[in-house]
Formats: sequence, structure tokens, C-alpha cells
Amino acid sequence: MTNENNLAGNTISTGNTAELAGFAALGISGALLKATHGAGFTEPKPIQMQAIPPQMEGRDIFGIAQTGSGKTAAFALPILSKIIALGTKRRAKTTRALILAPTRELAVQIEDTIKILAKGAHVSTALVLGGVSRFSQVKKVAPGVDILIATPGRLTDLVREGDLILSDTKWLVLDEGDRMLDMGFINDVKRIAKATAPDRQTVLFSATMPNEIAELAKGLLKNPIRVEVAPQSTAAAEIVQGVVFARTKQKRQVLSTMLADAAMKSVIIFSRTKHGADRVTKDLERDGFKAAVIHGNKSQNARQKALNDFREGSVRILVATDIAARGIDVPGISHVVNFDLPDEAESYVHRIGRTGRNGMDGIAITLCDPSENSKLRQVERIIRSKLPIVADHLGSPDPVRNPAEKNERFEPANDRNDRNGRRDGRRPGGQNNGFGKKRFGDKPAFAGAGERKPEGAKPFKGNNKRRFGGKRPAARAA
Ligand code: AMP
Repeated sequence: MTNENNLAGNTISTGNTAELAGFAALGISGALLKATHGAGFTEPKPIQMQAIPPQMEGRDIFGIAQTGSGKTAAFALPILSKIIALGTKRRAKTTRALILAPTRELAVQIEDTIKILAKGAHVSTALVLGGVSRFSQVKKVAPGVDILIATPGRLTDLVREGDLILSDTKWLVLDEGDRMLDMGFINDVKRIAKATAPDRQTVLFSATMPNEIAELAKGLLKNPIRVEVAPQSTAAAEIVQGVVFARTKQKRQVLSTMLADAAMKSVIIFSRTKHGADRVTKDLERDGFKAAVIHGNKSQNARQKALNDFREGSVRILVATDIAARGIDVPGISHVVNFDLPDEAESYVHRIGRTGRNGMDGIAITLCDPSENSKLRQVERIIRSKLPIVADHLGSPDPVRNPAEKNERFEPANDRNDRNGRRDGRRPGGQNNGFGKKRFGDKPAFAGAGERKPEGAKPFKGNNKRRFGGKRPAARAA
């Protein structure tokens, strides 16, 4: 693979550049240019300046850019421009362009942007996503579409069943390649790419560059132009970050006290697990806060509603897991609160990047239990600075539980500190709590059995051989 340099700053070879400016100078014209301006895009963003001209010339693109950089228009405008020029020529069950995205939310967001950019042009779009009716999707693609936006799992099903044919697909975009890799979609992606037209044009965007992505690029892209914009982690100067030390039992109260501050206008709260996200939401509601929640176990409709309510401001608090929140671009998020630290330190950068967008200020606060200290250190290593301590509650007593909630779990059932000394006077071992599980050891005693499971992990169903020695099934969460 050749690494050609960024085109930013170079003379753009398309058209009469002396008189053209903005998107027109990048080769966008006619109704598409009008709709682009109509969308409020008058000045191209750096990633658009770099990626649009070579795509207009038919080159493959390998882009390092995150959501928020303007990458959607960067890949969509050249495709729209070419499809509009070709006119309506769809074959049944085919798509002329295919955009693969890791999550349903991102796919919906991409389609929204494309619809706005294609306003006034006769370009058809469709979505193929898991978690919603398959029938309506099959029906939508049956006459053939111009641009299909899909998550890899459901798309694979449709292709396997013969409901969709990819051999006419001349444009392929892989968005958030690293996330598709994390979610176990990589083999689906390779299979899908192989089924598309061999002379297709391919664009791969990824926020980070693990070896597997470099390998994927080598296999799928032909002599690509490499484009890159500063990652969020280095552009995060506008985000004020801090850590609050609080024991797990104290976090609910600390969070509620924080949220009582009117300055917290639009807040996204991250939880490491789906179960944890539900619990935080429930506790917030009990404490008088209206909150929406978004994670991989929610139906597509519920997720979209939560996102819309948050985007429109009818709820100011959105609780989310890492995977569900990835790629969400909601303008004006004032605060990010990490209710717990993520398993992968890199996710911290993605989490806090939800705020401080488009040059606006943002605040990111991380609640840290002493058991999370090593994760905090990993985060500090990645961001290359120490998080300032905003507050330290470790010396304060734990809050007293509301007796009305005594049947509800307040802290994770697997909080080891709590079970070191048994208060019931019984000896550990042998007794059964009526749920068929022993009440000691590493296993949580009751409902929160899935508490420690990171999102994306599947319940174990196979035999032990497979679990401990064999190949692990790919984790799919979205
Ligand atoms: P994306 O990275 O594609 O999700 O885009 C991030 C945000 O930037 C979205 O809200 C877009 O609507 C916005 N955006 C993209 N390109 C431009 C542009 N050239 N001018 C103004 N806003 C833009």
C-alpha cells in the first residue's frame, strides 16, 4: 500500500479552481452543491478537503478520522455526485453503493446526512439493520436502491438468503473500521467486500489504526490515498477533565448531587455494562431525574427514541454503554460523566469526545472507586496527563439506603469488600439461597450475575472444551 501525503493545502486539480471556492472547488456542483449549502455546509472541513478530490478522481481512500470530523459528507458527496451523474439505473435486489457501519445508531445518522445532502436529487437510500423487522428491509431493497447503509450482521443474512445481490455494488464504504473489528464483524466485512464488484471504489475510515485494520486496508483497497485529521484525543483541549473519588456505594448520591447543578444542561453518563446502565437510569429516576438509556439490549425503536429525546432536549440525561454511544454525534453535550471506568483505556477518549465538539467547551468527570485505580492509571497513561482530583469522598461514610428500596440492589452484588465478613453468622458453603446458587465465592449472589460482563460478551452456552480451548464466538453487541 502506498502512503500518499495529505492533499490539504495542495492545489486542487478539479475544475476551474481559480474562481471556485468551498465545496465547488472540490468538484461538487449543481443540485448537490445547493443541497450541501442548504445543509449549512459552506466551508469544507479538513477531512473533506483531503478526501473528496481524490474520490472524485476514482481513487480509494484510507482515512483516519473520528465521528465529528465531517467524514460522512467526505465519503458521501463523491458517491452522490457520481450516482446523480449516472442517472436512475437500478437493478432489482441490488445496491449501487454500500456503506457499512458498526452500530445501528451510526447507520441511521449516516442515512440522515445523506438524505439531507441528496435533497432534490433522485437518489434512493435504504437501511439494513439488526433488531428491526427483516421483512420491511427486504421489501425496501427488492426494486434495487442507490445507496444502502447497513450493519454487517443483518446484511450478511440478506445476502446469504438471496434477498440482496452485491455484484453491482461499485462503491463500498467501511465506516469506523476499528469498531467493526472490536465487535467481531471483521470476517463479515471481508465476505461482504468480496461479494461486491471487483472494480469498485473503496473507502475505509477508522478512528485508530490497529494492525488488523492496516491488514484489512491492504486486502481491500487499491493504491489508496491516505488522509488523516487530528484525532479527538489530541484535539481535546477544550474538554476540562477531572476525577471524583467515590466508593461504588457512594456513586449514586455523588451523581445525583452533581446533576442537581443547573449547569449540567446536557449530560451523557457512561456505564461499562448494559446492566449497570439500566441500574443507573433506575436510580436516577428514583432520585427525581428524567433520563433516557441506550444500550445493545434495547430495541432499535427504543434506542432511536432515547437518542431523539436527548438530541431534541426533552431529556437532558442520556445513560449509555460504550458500544451503543460510539459514533453518536449530538451537538451541545455539556458534560460527560463516567459512572465507572471503561475496560479499555482507549474508550475513555471516545467517551469524553462526545462533549467539547465543534469548538464548544465541555466537561468530563470520572467517578473512581479504589478498585478502579489501575484503570485510571491506564487512562492517564493514554491521555499523557494526570486527571485533576475534583472531589474525594473516600473519607465520608456510605449513604444510608432508603428503606423503601431495601429489596433493590444498591451496589453490585459482587462487591467483595462487603462479603468478606458475613453478617448472618453462617459459615460460607453448602447453603443455598433458594435461587440454586451458593452465596459465597466469586459469583454474585443473585440478580446481578451479569454485572461483570462487558457489553458484547455473550452468555456461555457451549461446552467447556469450546469455552476454554476452542475458538470463541465473535462478540456482537449492536
Ligand atoms: P460527521 O463526522 O460526519 O458525523 O460530522 C460531524 C458534524 O459536522 C455533523 O453534525 C455534521 O452535520 C457537521 N458537518 C460536517 N461537515 C460540515 C461542514 N462542512 N460544515 C459544517 N458542518 C459540517
